Amino acid sequence: MSGTRTIAIIGAGPVGLAAAAHLLERGLEPVVLEAGPEIGHAVRQWGHVRMFSPWEYNIDTAAHRLLGGIGWNAPEADQYPTGAELVERYLEPLANRTALKEHIRTASRVTGIGRVGFDKVKTQGRDKARFEIRYRNGVGPKTVQADAVIDASGTWFSPNPAGADGMPALGEDLAGERIAYGMPDIPGTARVRYAGRTVAVLGTGHSAIGTLMDLARLQEEVPQTALIWLVRGETPDKAFGGGANDRLAARGALGSAFAALVASGRIRVETAFRISRLAPEGGRLRIDAGAACCGRHVVVDELIVGTGFRPQLDFLRELRIALDPALECPPMLAPLIDPNEHSCGTVRPHGARELAQPDSGLYIAGMKTYGRAPTFLMLTGYEQVRSIAAEIAGDHEAARKVELVLPETGVCSGPAPASPAAKVESKGCCLSAN
Ligand SMILES: Cc1cc2nc3c(=O)[nH]c(=O)nc-3n(C[C@H](O)[C@H](O)[C@H](O)COP(=O)(O)OP(=O)(O)OC[C@H]3O[C@@H](n4cnc5c(N)ncnc54)[C@H](O)[C@@H]3O)c2cc1C
Repeated sequence: MSGTRTIAIIGAGPVGLAAAAHLLERGLEPVVLEAGPEIGHAVRQWGHVRMFSPWEYNIDTAAHRLLGGIGWNAPEADQYPTGAELVERYLEPLANRTALKEHIRTASRVTGIGRVGFDKVKTQGRDKARFEIRYRNGVGPKTVQADAVIDASGTWFSPNPAGADGMPALGEDLAGERIAYGMPDIPGTARVRYAGRTVAVLGTGHSAIGTLMDLARLQEEVPQTALIWLVRGETPDKAFGGGANDRLAARGALGSAFAALVASGRIRVETAFRISRLAPEGGRLRIDAGAACCGRHVVVDELIVGTGFRPQLDFLRELRIALDPALECPPMLAPLIDPNEHSCGTVRPHGARELAQPDSGLYIAGMKTYGRAPTFLMLTGYEQVRSIAAEIAGDHEAARKVELVLPETGVCSGPAPASPAAKVESKGCCLSAN
């Protein structure tokens, strides 16, 4: 791909912006298309959440160099920002006060990507055709052409549904006003919605646990608030994490505090509860588990679904992509992050080689590379785009060289399989965000 000039980046999250910083350093022309009205649109949705990795793991190296040019004061390395602080203190200065500013188009939702003059089936000469990216900016359909594409559009806006079989539960679409997905801002804007209500939370990852902890604090102020934790599995144990063994202290502490909360009996726990149907009942929401005939159900005012995310693949439809059939991630990553094999993701740093798609010049990066797997570390994303930018610029040696050493967390159970890129010794890490 040497000689490439314009590189389209889908998404102005932490990884998309880092990609732009690396490309700029290499003299390439990034065009960042962001669906939201502002950069960091997904992170803003969980702005109230305190991150479990400290600043030293949240800042990309090329972004840091750009920020150095404007006299930016780096935050304290060992402090843990909230999502909102990540935006305010890092992403906004990066996007608005450095050379990146001229390269970002907000309110620009990508709706389709193809190769100029080539439908998906046509092969001869395909590699030389530029990409055409269609997007909507509220004024009308727009297009931009690029020599390569980095899809860093994340997964936040396509949460998994409540239904245990992966499809929405029967009635889920119609019960929308009593359901929230992800992590509502319970201490802030969503407080009034949940105070004094009976609230069910579905899921065992960090989003669900964080939400239950926020609700428990609300319950201390408004004791009528009743909490039900819906767990699909036979036991809730995996939600309690590695505790003191977790080298990411903030995450270990969350698991331990949550275990104590559950032990206190303030949360009603329903295990082996696999939602099949949702229906209005007397102005509330009835949640059925399993076959409706068996009658196992709860009735609540609100349901919060924290069962993770899945990648949005529609706008890649005209491109040739290869994804793992189960996880919907680049195939080479699947054995490393498969939740069937690991209690948490143990993935070695990796880059352009592992992330290249069959359509040459197309890369998926960031949160989206983990597909449906429940683990991702921002730092891993920064290393991905460093390598991809090098590859696009023709610096294959830098693209292959793994520069990142991830923190060891020491709580992964199950064997860590050899990485496809395991020539370089580095440490594993596991972080779960949903
Ligand atoms: C609650 C929570 C807490 C987390 N905490 C941590 C942590 O402590 N440490 C850590 O390392 N990681 C953490 N993560 C995981 C991960 O690092 C973050 O989700 C991070 O924001 C991923 O960055 P990204 O740039 O890949 O994706 P995102 O931040 O999701 O950014 C993607 C961007 O693409 C945009 N977009 C989507 N579709 C389109 C489209 N069609 N066209 C144009 N733009 C589009 C979105 O609006 C968004 O701005 C956390 C995740 C969550 C959900």
